[in-house]
Amino acid sequence: MISKVKAKKYIFITGGVSSSLGKGLAAASIASLLERRGINLQMLKMDPYINVDPGTMSPTQHGEVFVTDDGAETDLDLGHYERFTSLTLLRKNNFTSGQVYQQVIENEREGRYLGKTVQVVPHITDEIKRRIHIATEDADLLIGEIGGTVGDIESLPFLEGIRQLSTEVGQGNVIFIHLVLIPYLRAAGESKSKPAQHSVKELRSIGLFPDLIICRSERPIDAPLIDKISLFCNVPHNNVFQSVDLDSVYKLPLEFHKQHLDARITELLGIWASEPKVADLQKMVFNFDNPLKNVRIGIVGKYTELTESYKSLEEAIRHGAINQQVRAELDYIEAEDLEGKSPLEIEQRLNKVDGILVPGGFGERGTEGKISAIRWARENKVPFLGICLGLQLAVIEFARSRAGIENATSAEFSSEGNQLRSGVAVIHYLDGQNQHAAKGGSMRLGAYSCTIFPDTLAHHLYQSKKISERHRHRLEVNNRYVDQLKNAGLVVSGINEENNLVELIEIPSKEHPYFIGCQFHPEFKSKPFLPHPLFAGLVMAAIKYRTVID
Ligand code: GLN
Repeated sequence: MISKVKAKKYIFITGGVSSSLGKGLAAASIASLLERRGINLQMLKMDPYINVDPGTMSPTQHGEVFVTDDGAETDLDLGHYERFTSLTLLRKNNFTSGQVYQQVIENEREGRYLGKTVQVVPHITDEIKRRIHIATEDADLLIGEIGGTVGDIESLPFLEGIRQLSTEVGQGNVIFIHLVLIPYLRAAGESKSKPAQHSVKELRSIGLFPDLIICRSERPIDAPLIDKISLFCNVPHNNVFQSVDLDSVYKLPLEFHKQHLDARITELLGIWASEPKVADLQKMVFNFDNPLKNVRIGIVGKYTELTESYKSLEEAIRHGAINQQVRAELDYIEAEDLEGKSPLEIEQRLNKVDGILVPGGFGERGTEGKISAIRWARENKVPFLGICLGLQLAVIEFARSRAGIENATSAEFSSEGNQLRSGVAVIHYLDGQNQHAAKGGSMRLGAYSCTIFPDTLAHHLYQSKKISERHRHRLEVNNRYVDQLKNAGLVVSGINEENNLVELIEIPSKEHPYFIGCQFHPEFKSKPFLPHPLFAGLVMAAIKYRTVID
C-alpha cells in the first residue's frame, strides 16, 4: 500500500459511562474506512486488567479468547479488527497491564533502572509507550483502543501514557475519540447527555481533551442534544457523531461514512486520502437486508456461559451465509439438555435445524449431549461441522458406533489423564501437554500447517493441498486408533505432517452430504468478504438439506 502520511499518526479510542459500548467495533469500523482510503494502518488493544493475557479468564468474565497466528491468546476485539480489515494481527497488537508490569519488574530485577525508584510515571508509562511504538512499526497510522471505562483506576497509566505520547509526537499527529453512552430515559421521554459530560470532565482532569465524541445510543439523537454535547464537552458540533443500535455490525462502517466520520478524521490528522471504496460494504449490507433464503444452524454448546464466548464462530457462520445471500438463524442448543434423552426426544429438539455445529470447549460437562447430537447428524445425514472439541467428540462417537470401541473417550474427561483405567482414550494428551501442565501456555497455540489429501470434502472446500489454521487445545487424536477408525470408514482428510497429527476428519460424501471435523479453529480466520470454506460449506449444505426436507 502506498504511504500517504509523513509523520506517524495515532487515533486513541476511550470509552465512557459504561462498558460494552462496542468500542472495538467502532475502532474496527473506523479502521475499515481508513484502510479503504488507502492508509497503511495497524491496530492495538490495550487492556488495563492485571491478567497477563485473557487465556486464563473464564469466558463468562471476558468472552472469547481470540488466537493470533503467532499463538497469542488475546482480547476478542482483535477478532473484530481482523474481520473489518485486511490485517492479520499478532501478539504485539494486544497488551495488558499484567504484561507491562511483568516487563517492568523483570527490568528492575535485572538492574536496568540503575538504582532509581521504579514508579508508575515514568516507568510503567514508558513501557506502555514502548509497546505502542512497537505496534505502530511498519504502519503510518495506529488505531489504539483502551479497554475499560474512563474513571477505572486500572486505566489511569494508559491514559497518562497516551497523553505523554501525544505531546512527544506532536499534538497534530494524534486524535482522541471518546465513545460515550447516551441513555434514553423512557419515563422522561428524553436522551440524556449528563453522564457523557461527566465522563469528558473526568478525561479532561487527567489532561486528555477528546477531539471527537461518538454517542452510543438506542435511538437517534436530535440536533439540540448534539448542540448540548458539543457545548458541554467542548467539542465542535461537527465532531459529534452517533452510533445508534443496528441489526448488523457490518452496517457500522457505512453509518460512520454517511456521517463523514472518516473524512473528519483525515482532516484533523492532516492526511490526504481519497474517498474510500465502499462498494463491497454496500453489497454485504444489501445481501444482509435482502436474504433469498433462511437456514437454521444449531450450535450445541454450554450456554450457561455467555454467547460472547462464541463471537468469532457466530460471525463466521454469518459470513458464510451473507455471501450466499442467505440469512443464518442461530439456534443455541444446551448440550446437557440432550443428555439421558430418548432418540425421539433428541429428534424433536434437533429436527428444527438444517445444520449442526459443535464448537470448541473444555471439560467433560455436556459432552455426552454433544455426542448424541453428532450421532443424530451422522445417522440422519444432517450437515455437521465439528470444531476442535467438536472433532474430538465426532471421533469418539464414530469409534463407539462404527469402530467397535464401545468405551471410547477422551483423556480430558478422566482425572487419570492418559492413564485412565476405564475407557479407551481415542483422544489423548501429547507428551508435554498433559493436564497437569500449568494453566496458561500449555496448549498447542497459533498457526500450524495442514496437508489436505486429494479427493476429500476438505480438498473440495479449500481447493488447496496446504493450508494454515490456528489452534488452541491440549489434546489430539490418538494415532494408535487411527487405522481402526479408517478401516471402519472414517476419512482422515488432513494432517499436520511435522508432528504427524490428525487435523481434519470426514465421512465420505457417498455416505453423508457434509460431515467434517477440524482440530483447529477456522472461525478465527473468517472475514465477511472472505468467508471461511468450512462455514460457507456448512451453510451451502444446510440450504440443500432444507430444500430436500421442505
Ligand atoms: N478441550 C479440548 C482440548 O484441550 C478441546 C479444546 C478446544 O475445543 N479448543 O484439546
